[in-house]
Amino acid sequence: MQVRESIVIGAGQAGLSASFHLKRLGIDHVVLDANDAPGGAWQHRWNALTMNDVHGVAELPDAHPAARDGQRANRVVPESFAEYERDNDLPIIRPVRVDLVTDDDGVLVVHAGQSEWRARTLVNATGTWTQPFLPHYPGMETFIGEQLHTVDYPGPAHFLGKRVLVVGGGASAVQFLGALAPITDTLWVTRREPIWRDDDFTPEAGAAAVALVEQRVAQGLPPQSVVGVTGLMLRPQEQEAARLGAYDDRRSMFQSVEPDGVRWADGSFEPVDVIVWATGFRPAIGHLAPLHLRSEAGGIQLDRSGRGTTAVKDPRIQLVGYGPSASTIGANRAGRTAAKGVQRTFAMAAPL
Ligand code: FAD
Repeated sequence: MQVRESIVIGAGQAGLSASFHLKRLGIDHVVLDANDAPGGAWQHRWNALTMNDVHGVAELPDAHPAARDGQRANRVVPESFAEYERDNDLPIIRPVRVDLVTDDDGVLVVHAGQSEWRARTLVNATGTWTQPFLPHYPGMETFIGEQLHTVDYPGPAHFLGKRVLVVGGGASAVQFLGALAPITDTLWVTRREPIWRDDDFTPEAGAAAVALVEQRVAQGLPPQSVVGVTGLMLRPQEQEAARLGAYDDRRSMFQSVEPDGVRWADGSFEPVDVIVWATGFRPAIGHLAPLHLRSEAGGIQLDRSGRGTTAVKDPRIQLVGYGPSASTIGANRAGRTAAKGVQRTFAMAAPL
């Protein structure tokens, strides 16, 4: 069976950037992507999310900037990815969901159902969207109302007339409250006191936030989301909810869930119809388990003090869109770094 120089898993922003740069360097590779169509996770974002609601989506490397204001993110970003894949003739195979990556005497074997691909190096670009994180609270399974995670957010109209409890201290929770509080009854709970930014989100502030995640990845700790460490901001579309007090009435986590509401630590009860778990995501890296890349601290340690993309435990593996590069701009840069990392692996390899 053919042994390729590299395989990229995932064709979101990070995988496309990696493929673009691998191609530029003349490195033979394929990209395996689980989705039926181009667009990475963007194709699955909720319909109400427009390009005015996102926090800035960077163009792919060398792509032409397009005016996309106000348009649906789950439509225009996938369209631009499709065009990019075509224009750059990227070698993408889909749908292919990778189950496992194993090592066969120095060759990486990528298993997907009955199929397998072999390569000398691997660029993992599988994002987080397929790994929604749902914490467990006693009684959750007894709730007779509706519980949903960010991945299933159906847009504000669905919640009209319902009492909605939004759980989570990140950007998604803030956005959901911004859309829901003006039209229905909301409550907000977070595990920790939210950290608000009142200064402008400058490039320096962005770099400082990324540096915090890099430090974690350098130590092999599970990465936090970059957005999680930037602090929260209210945008014009959240001002009405703020005026109504949606962000002032935040409470600490409830103790348990009951069939028709939640029980607070002080014993009092709160009836709710819907619980929205805006509790984030984890890196989708389960298929890499046979390679034993995780450190004892639970994360995958990356080189260059967490600024690189090469797995310290196995330099054949690059991780992009992971930790500090889990943003569109970070994914772009990581794709380039990873392609160079792959090239370096071959430069270092002893001649056969
Ligand atoms: P994805 O876009 O998730 O792509 C991963 C690809 O890998 C998918 O196509 C998936 O099908 C595939 N895949 C996964 N597992 C497998 C497998 N086992 N086998 C084969 N293929 C697989 N960032 C910003 O910069 N600005 C924003 O405004 C912004 N808004 C966001 C809003 C939300 C709600 C969320 C959740 C994230 C947001 N981000 C934003 C983060 C940003 O979307 C990602 O960091 C960025 O798009 C990087 O994408 P990616 O390529 O790493 O992952």
